Amino acid sequence: MRGTTPEFIRWALEQECALRDFPKWQDPNRTERHLRAIRVYQDALADGRVFEGVAVEPENSDTMMAEQALGFRVDDVFEFYGDPESVAKLCSRCPANVAKQIHSNAWVGCFGQMPVSDVVLPDLIDDLPVGTVDLRQVLETLLSEDRLLRDQVYRAFDKTSPSWYGLWISRSPSLKQRTVQLNVIESLLGQVPCDVTPPWEMFRRALRLSVEYDIPIHLQLVPAAETDGVYWVVDQHCGRCGAVATAATHTGRQCRVCKNEGRPRDTQRRFVKGKRPYWKITRFLGEQGAKEYLQAYINQRGWKHVTVR
Ligand SMILES: [Zn+2]
Ligand SMILES: [Zn+2]
Repeated sequence: MRGTTPEFIRWALEQECALRDFPKWQDPNRTERHLRAIRVYQDALADGRVFEGVAVEPENSDTMMAEQALGFRVDDVFEFYGDPESVAKLCSRCPANVAKQIHSNAWVGCFGQMPVSDVVLPDLIDDLPVGTVDLRQVLETLLSEDRLLRDQVYRAFDKTSPSWYGLWISRSPSLKQRTVQLNVIESLLGQVPCDVTPPWEMFRRALRLSVEYDIPIHLQLVPAAETDGVYWVVDQHCGRCGAVATAATHTGRQCRVCKNEGRPRDTQRRFVKGKRPYWKITRFLGEQGAKEYLQAYINQRGWKHVTVR
């Protein structure tokens, strides 16, 4: 699928944990890569898509093609983490599990991604145009009106233009910086002309937890990118502040946003994350096995209108 991904902030609260037993475990990207499958499993479980030890991808057509259907064996995913019960035990008493504040039995709530721009407004009020909210712009407006906040921001962070980028240059902000970031996010979310989306809410709560209990948080601003379904391409951007380098934002020798000297970082190309841990059910059950399994699955769900091919 073609499309764009918005600029976003990856975050992870720093918490030593048996589930985060991997090199550079504080890194938000690695944390997400290692623990995402647990969330995927929990979502499947909540949707009733786990049957006989296999999780099945959401399905909304009337025909399930055994050849194409995706799923995963729960045991395969939990091989790395113990079993669901031990994960539940670890996460239920984890001080960094901020997702628990929203869903009391949520697991691995210590990391997330907060979109910065191009957020579709699900609940537009009549007189607003269909469009997007850009937190960077909302912040510019906010700082021009709120002098106190502006002073806080300029004291705690390097000045950038737009101001947004200065806030996220430090990958591991100090407690004082986190306090200002929390004030900014609270004010921003109070200003957005739409409901506060779950990823925004999670980030707000993560910052608050990080400030109240002094749990370090690790942040990474990821520039907007384009995808063709196979690759994910991030244009040239400043290696310090993360702003995409255009004629307006970079001279080629200096970033106009944060004044950092040097060439922008080259275009980066990565494989898109894909459907992991989902893969073709036929790969682990075989062709016949997949058909039989899916038939039993739809029977158990009581889906009389669905056929398996
Ligand atoms: Zn934890
Ligand atoms: Zn920069």
